[in-house]
Amino acid sequence: MTQDTADLIVHLARLAQNTGRTDLTAAQWTALRFFARANRFSRTPSAFSEFHSTTRGTASQTVKSLVALGLLQRQNNSADARSTLIEVTQAGHDMLRHDPLGDLRRVLSGLPDDLQRSLSVALQRATTSLATLRQVPTFGTCADCSHCKEGTDTAYCHCTESMLTRPEMGSFCIDFRPADRAS
Ligand code: SF4
Repeated sequence: MTQDTADLIVHLARLAQNTGRTDLTAAQWTALRFFARANRFSRTPSAFSEFHSTTRGTASQTVKSLVALGLLQRQNNSADARSTLIEVTQAGHDMLRHDPLGDLRRVLSGLPDDLQRSLSVALQRATTSLATLRQVPTFGTCADCSHCKEGTDTAYCHCTESMLTRPEMGSFCIDFRPADRAS
C-alpha cells in the first residue's frame, strides 16, 4: 500500500508536468513557478537549488536560461548589496498563465473538500518528514512557521527580524521552520 502510494505520487508528478509542451523544460517551469511564489528572502538561485534539490551550478544555469528568454530578471537586493534578487518579468507572468500544473490544480480542486484537506495535510507531513530525513530545508509559508508571530494585518518574523505583510505571508520561504519542529 505505502509502496503503491509512493509510486503513485512520483507518477502523478511526472504526468502533471508532461503536457507535450516544448516551450520550457520541466526545470524551467519549476524555476518560473518558484520565483513567482517565493518571498524576498528566498528569490535567489541558491534558494531555488535547495527547493529543486539540485546543485547551485545547475540552478544558476536554469535561471540564466530564463533571464535570456526574458522571463526572469535580476534586481539589486536592498537587504544585501553582494547579492541580487530574481524577479519574474511580465512575460514570465504571462507564460505562467499556461503553466502545465494548471491541469493538476483543476483536477485536485474537483475533489471533495475533506479529501483536499486530508491530502494537503498528508503531503505536507510527508514532505517535512522526508526533508528531515535527508537533512535538507523544507519550504513552507509563515502561517505554519515557528518563527512567525502573527498580528492582525501584519506579522513579525523572528528569523529575519522583519515585519511581514499579509501577501508576503503566503509566499514560499527558505527559512521556514515547521511549527512542530520548534525546539
Ligand atoms: S516567519 Fe518563517 S516562513 Fe515567514 S518569513 Fe519568517 S522564516 Fe520565513
